[in-house]
Amino acid sequence: MGTWLTNNKDIIGIALAVIGLAVTAYTVATARTSQRRDAFMRMHEVLLLPEIQEGRRLLYQVDAIDDVPSQNTIEYQKINRALAIFDTLGHYVRRGHVDRREALELWHHSLVDLKPPAETFIQARKSKHRSEWTPWPRLRWLMSEAAAYRSKEDCCKARQTPGSV
Ligand SMILES: [Zn+2]
Repeated sequence: MGTWLTNNKDIIGIALAVIGLAVTAYTVATARTSQRRDAFMRMHEVLLLPEIQEGRRLLYQVDAIDDVPSQNTIEYQKINRALAIFDTLGHYVRRGHVDRREALELWHHSLVDLKPPAETFIQARKSKHRSEWTPWPRLRWLMSEAAAYRSKEDCCKARQTPGSV
């Protein structure tokens, strides 16, 4: 046994190094998964805050640009905040801080329903701020991802596939 160890110490050393690397890689991957889960849970809690829900509810009432509340109202600020949070979620998903599938699984229908009034609100905001830039590009990206997303749950059963309309 002693001779075998002496003869094979290079191989044993390499094997131990490989095992060490594998353990490190596993630990890093597990920590990343857990960090992503924590980040999503925190975002999810924020998205469910009453004032953010109220912002979404107010946004659903916007059919045309004239329905957008005046800029200095609480209603406008609530809608603004609700959309800004989704923009942040889009940013986190794109950066890999939050798992794309997890975010879309829980929010795809809200994002799809939100798209028409959100686009109207964005147009109103652009004209009111008299700015050239279009706000919340990550929100718009997230809304288009949601439009293409199909859940395996019952919620999507009646939904038509993109392009079939
Ligand atoms: Zn669905």
